[in-house]
Amino acid sequence: MKKAATRKLLAAWLREVGVDYVPVSAPSLPPLREETLEEIRNELAGCRGCALCQGRSTIVFGTGNPRARLMFVGEGPGAEEDRQGEPFVGAAGKRLDQWVARIGLSREDVYIANIVKCRPPGNRVPTPGEAKACLPYLMRQIRAIRPEVICTLGLTALNHLFGVEERITRARGRWRELDGIPVLPTYHPAFILRDPSRESEVREDFDAIARRLSLPDLK
Ligand code: URA
Repeated sequence: MKKAATRKLLAAWLREVGVDYVPVSAPSLPPLREETLEEIRNELAGCRGCALCQGRSTIVFGTGNPRARLMFVGEGPGAEEDRQGEPFVGAAGKRLDQWVARIGLSREDVYIANIVKCRPPGNRVPTPGEAKACLPYLMRQIRAIRPEVICTLGLTALNHLFGVEERITRARGRWRELDGIPVLPTYHPAFILRDPSRESEVREDFDAIARRLSLPDLK
């Protein structure tokens, strides 16, 4: 007999003989130890996990509030980020700051990280191997922060974070889940700088994020 059927029969018989519940002692799991961002950052120092280490000036770990309710995931550092060691400090970063400000938050309120932490040469898209090597660190950052919402910026962030090959024009604005955390994909700010006609869609996405986080309506 199948396990579930046996359980059902046993439960029915226990009810019949007047037993409502059976106390079961909690399984003794090892206590969950929360990892801090600093611990993850220290472990990454001097990383040689993929070939990107050869061209980097600095590892761009991520920045912002370690208790952020909202986390952004971009693609990878560009030239300016590689120089300064901070994500989204160039023109695309300024546009992202504007979107964040529009929902009443600032860079200090949110957390920003990338799929890869070292600059791909010539700002090319990270290869699947590079993304795979770096992804465990990003996942650990996500678990350390446990944001209430993640917003992926652009195609690379979406596809590598979820291990899919989707089109950003289809995926944007549609909620999904990662590790129990709601995720909203939107366009990358660099893409919007090239095609401003799509920015109204990003505004819709940020409004949806604000609603999800119950942020006051500023419009
Ligand atoms: N683009 C990204 O995806 N990440 C950065 O940090 C900067 C530009």
